Formats: sequence, C-alpha cells, structure tokens
Amino acid sequence: MTFPVVGMVGGGQLARMTHEAGIPLGIRFKLLSDTPQDSAAQVVSDVVIGDYRDLDTLREFARGCDVITFDHEHVPTEHLRALEAEGIPVRPGPDALVHAQDKGVMRARLDAIGVPCPRHRIVSDPQDVAAFAAEGLPGGSGGSGGSDGSGGSEGSEGSEGDGFPVVLKTVRGGYDGKGVWVVNNVAEAEEPFRAGVPVLAEEKVDFVRELAANVVRSPHGQAVAYPVVESQQVNGVCDTVIAPAPGLDRALALKAEALALTIAKELDVVGHLAVELFQTPDGRILVNELAMRPHNSGHWSMDGAITSQFANHVRAVLDLPLGDPRPRAKWTVMVNVLGGDYPDMYSAYLHCMARDPQLKIHMYGKDVKPGRKVGHVNTYGDDLDDVLERARHAAGYLRGTITE
Ligand code: ADP
Repeated sequence: MTFPVVGMVGGGQLARMTHEAGIPLGIRFKLLSDTPQDSAAQVVSDVVIGDYRDLDTLREFARGCDVITFDHEHVPTEHLRALEAEGIPVRPGPDALVHAQDKGVMRARLDAIGVPCPRHRIVSDPQDVAAFAAEGLPGGSGGSGGSDGSGGSEGSEGSEGDGFPVVLKTVRGGYDGKGVWVVNNVAEAEEPFRAGVPVLAEEKVDFVRELAANVVRSPHGQAVAYPVVESQQVNGVCDTVIAPAPGLDRALALKAEALALTIAKELDVVGHLAVELFQTPDGRILVNELAMRPHNSGHWSMDGAITSQFANHVRAVLDLPLGDPRPRAKWTVMVNVLGGDYPDMYSAYLHCMARDPQLKIHMYGKDVKPGRKVGHVNTYGDDLDDVLERARHAAGYLRGTITE
C-alpha cells in the first residue's frame, strides 16, 4: 500500500480535525458529507455529498478508499456489515461499533465482561420504570449491572422512598444529552416512550465528577492510553476538559486506563475509544458510555499531547504504529466555544490573541447558533488556576458572555 485514502463518513468537526491531522502525514481523505457546508466538507477536496443511511451511496463512496471510518456512530450497523462482507475494511468494525450505537447492547456486553456500570435495565413502560426505581431501594431486588446497589440508594435526592429519580435513555440516537431524561415520577416517565424506541433505565448516579479514559487501538492490537481527564458538562453538553484529571488518585487513574484498554480489546475496537466515566463519592468508577471515534474529551490532545487523538485515530485505522499519547505540559485545559448572541466571532480574535499569545484556537467553520459547538480553545501550563482562567476567558469572550 502506498499513501492510502481514508474514507471518512460524516462531515462534522471531528472529520475536519481528523483530516487536519492526516495532512502532515500525507494521508489522503475522501469525505461522505450531508451537505457541502458541513464543517469538514469545507476543507476536504474530495467530497461526496450523500446520505450515509443509503447502502448504495456508501458502496459508491467506498470505491477508491483503503479504509472507512466515521465521525459519528449513526451509520446503520447492517450497512457496515454489508460493506465488510464485500471486503471493504471498516474501522471500527460493525461488531465493535454497535456498542457505541446502542446503549442496551453496550450495557449487556459490559456486564458480561465485568465492567462496573450504573444499575440498569431495559424498561417497557412508565410502570416498569417505577418497578425499576423500587428495585434500587435498600431491600429492593436491584443490583444488576455490576453496581453493588449502593449507588441507587445514594442517588435518592427528591425521592420519597419510591426510588426515583431515575435516568431514562433512548438506546439509540442520543447525543449531547438529547435522548436522556431524569424523571422524578411515573408521569414524567411517559415522555421517553413516545418515540416508540427501546428505553434503558439507569440509577441516577450521585457522582462527584465525570471522567473520560481515552485509548486508541490498532487492528494488530497495539494500544495506547491518554491520561484520564475530568470532563465538566453544562446542560448536558461538554464544557471544560482538564488533562490530567486534577487530584485523581493514581491507583484509580490506572484502573480507569486499564478498564478502557480492556474494553477496547474485548470489543475489538479499532481507532479512538472514549470511555465516559462517573467517579462516585466512595471512590468507584462506573462506565457511563462509549464513543468509538475521536471525542470531545480528547480535543485537549491537539495541543497538549505528543500525538493527538486525531493523529492516532488515523494511524490506528491504517494499522500504523501509534504515536506517544503522553502530555506535553503539566496541565492542559480545553473549553468548548458555544454559539452565543453574536454571529461573528472573528471580531473577538483581536482581543483573545492579544491577551494570550499562547492560546490555541480551533474553529470549525460552522454557523453560529446559540448553544451549538462551533470551536474550542486549548491552553496549557504549570499553574492549573491560570490555565483554566485563560481558557474560560477566551471561550467566554468568543461566545460573547465575557466582554472585557
Ligand atoms: P449522550 O448520548 O447525550 O452523550 P449520556 O449517556 O452521556 O448521553 O448522558 C448525558 C449526561 O447525562 C451525562 O454526561 C451525565 O451528566 C448525565 N447522566 C447520564 N447517565 C446518568 C446516570 N446514570 N446518572 C447520573 N447522570 C447521568
């Protein structure tokens, strides 16, 4: 194989930044994008506009690609199986990717390999949700899913002895908190069933913070682990990531890394795997969910690690030796830039760049809409408070929530 062509399905910012990482390596990109305006479609020269849900479109697109990878997990699993059966390398493969597509499949598999998860089960209707909630009460019949049941009783705020609140999730299609409900009673549990898709119930974990363990694995089994990061969400959307997670006990960090490496191996993941975790008050870690593609919790690595998650994803899907995931600075902070009231963020560059010449700005070329992820900033250094302040200031200034 000479310089290969990576086929990327999905034209969002993850595709854009993966393409960017492939440029210095001389890797060619072909993109399947919904529209020419999509973030990656603006910068990749070889773009096919088409629908990733259509098998013939995928087949046509795959012609001339050496490998297919993704910037989202929404390509129907059966289409990926069909492409694989026709000899097209799909990475990660459908048997791995289904665990990032379907939260029910993911929970069942993690249970089977002994990975600790919140107590959970598939529920059929609001009454079944009430039964699930009651199972988590002390003396209830809960305890499935690797949790020892203590999480259920800890997370009992707002409950009057009925086991609520409970977290409900549609098993497929959720992102950025969409498709996730925290319900406090049977009446509130009706909404998630309206779409007519299977619903997963989980105990509401009383976590102290969210962590992410990011690893990259190649087809021949080489794997690398990035330092475990803290990920802070605002309204269900990732806001800030701190690498490494401050104050994280070394043994727990190693446990989280080992857990992510085990999941990558057991599920035969190829490429980047993000394992989103809850850290509980009693020092346990529970797996929230999996993403098998570059992930928002790894954006810090573009400037903060020796090899970024994007470069390593490209290397992994091509079965090249992986790059060093270690950090370059003591602390790296990533803050997402969300759309605010001002459609033009360019005018904020003057202030941000003048104030902090070390600031790393990454914009995705997306139209500004309130709350939409349109970019992120990275900062790094020795003093965490300073690094955090600089990143938050720049992101806030670009968004328009900070004006001085
Ligand atoms: P998405 O598909 O939107 O990424 P997630 O499963 O990651 O959905 O849930 C979004 C957010 O909801 C999580 O980051 C977390 O803050 C919260 N959440 C999800 N599951 C639970 C749970 N079992 N207990 C407490 N909070 C949860």
